[in-house]
Amino acid sequence: MLELKNSLKPWQRIYVNRSLNMASIRAIGFDMDHTLAIYDRENFEELAFNITLEKFIEAGYPKDLLSLKFNPNFIIRGLLVDINRGNILKVDGHKYVKVAYHGRKKLDRETRRSLYNSQSYKADDFVSVDTFFALSEIQLYADIVDYMARNPGVISKTFEEVYRDIKYFIDLSHKDGTIKTKVLRNLPKYVKKDDGMIEALIKLKEAGKKLFLLTNSYWDYTNQIMAYILSKGKNHTNHQWLDIFDFVIVGSSKPGFFVGSQPFFEVLPDTGHLRIHDGLSLDHKIFHGGNAKLLERISSLRGDEVLYVGDHIYGDIIHSKHRFNWRTLLIIDELDFEFKNLSNSRKTHEEIQKLILEREMLEEQHHYIVKKVETLYEKGLATPHKEYREKVHSQKLSQLQQELSEKTEKISKITEEIDALLENRSFTAHPFWGELMRTGLERSRLAEQVIDYACLYSSKVSNLRYYSPFKKFTSAKELLPHEIS
Ligand SMILES: [Mg+2]
Repeated sequence: MLELKNSLKPWQRIYVNRSLNMASIRAIGFDMDHTLAIYDRENFEELAFNITLEKFIEAGYPKDLLSLKFNPNFIIRGLLVDINRGNILKVDGHKYVKVAYHGRKKLDRETRRSLYNSQSYKADDFVSVDTFFALSEIQLYADIVDYMARNPGVISKTFEEVYRDIKYFIDLSHKDGTIKTKVLRNLPKYVKKDDGMIEALIKLKEAGKKLFLLTNSYWDYTNQIMAYILSKGKNHTNHQWLDIFDFVIVGSSKPGFFVGSQPFFEVLPDTGHLRIHDGLSLDHKIFHGGNAKLLERISSLRGDEVLYVGDHIYGDIIHSKHRFNWRTLLIIDELDFEFKNLSNSRKTHEEIQKLILEREMLEEQHHYIVKKVETLYEKGLATPHKEYREKVHSQKLSQLQQELSEKTEKISKITEEIDALLENRSFTAHPFWGELMRTGLERSRLAEQVIDYACLYSSKVSNLRYYSPFKKFTSAKELLPHEIS
């Protein structure tokens, strides 16, 4: 297994927060949107952006806004939005704001400090960018804030009112089917096919795992998307993909599925019509709604025998884990790009670690010299011997002070080098916000959430094909400090 691990690239691996023995997993559930179905982010988000923008103009916002262009690289998941001030923030695990933008303008350290870091705030005071669907929404918000700063008085609304309008229009675009209809009309443009997906699912199925789909999307959309992503080439019949799954639950309203008690309905696959389900068996294959409590009862699965794979830390991961003890695999699609981008910077990482060690040594030496100077100074004051005090003693003192200033200079030089390397690494990962799971040397807020809530994480579902369906995933946390090199 060690050999296998070493032969995998970082973007092919599955990472472990809590040990998990796949041999004791009897059922594996999958979310659909952004988990099994990977959208072409640029095309998909641009569509959502433009549709929402049109609704803005129709509602009376200035026509100049039509010149705004979607930039797929500006917003990332894990950010917080201060909707009252029009600011977008990246915070570390201690809620310290490390990077901030007002609209599209980067805020300097002093402004960040006075607005956020000099006082305590609750992350709940801000809107959290958790889903891919939120990326276009927040970019549009940043662009309108920016427009308001450049054209004072043209939009007579507060930043918060603008945010509420965006939320309303974008939710409407999702609900009224405008976005979905366009996606279904041109699937190759909006949905990416992953050639390893079928292999991964079949490998798990052949190992005797029950596979199920659990998605908030409705039947008609789910059916077309799944048929597309699980077909080879252009030939596919609509219901063939169902053979891979033991059962399918659509319209699940997660996180409601985990916290509520909505009943199961049977879906009639050809018409999409619903029929009341007696709730006692899973003989019927396609369901709408339902709840996790009833699912466990009728499937006789225990919580820790289920692995759920999803991309949404709140909707998919936190509630399934906390309430039902389901094991979880979080899909973080962005890591694929980031790992590939940073793959050449392993050397930089080693260089940073080396410089940090060097700085620590210098700082220790610095502390020693400071102590020596203090002691000598006190000694000198205490000695009554004038000649000793003026010659020997002050000579030693000035020698030590010279050493001290050399060390101080070296420390600040190394600190500058570390900062430059970190900035370069961060810029390589993402030009505006840096690495998804780090802010400089600290873990980002998103990283803390991933570590707290997901048992495993990986950049895509198809990575499961590289591992045995009976693999014992072991967390490094189980190693003792002396066992980690
Ligand atoms: Mg999803």
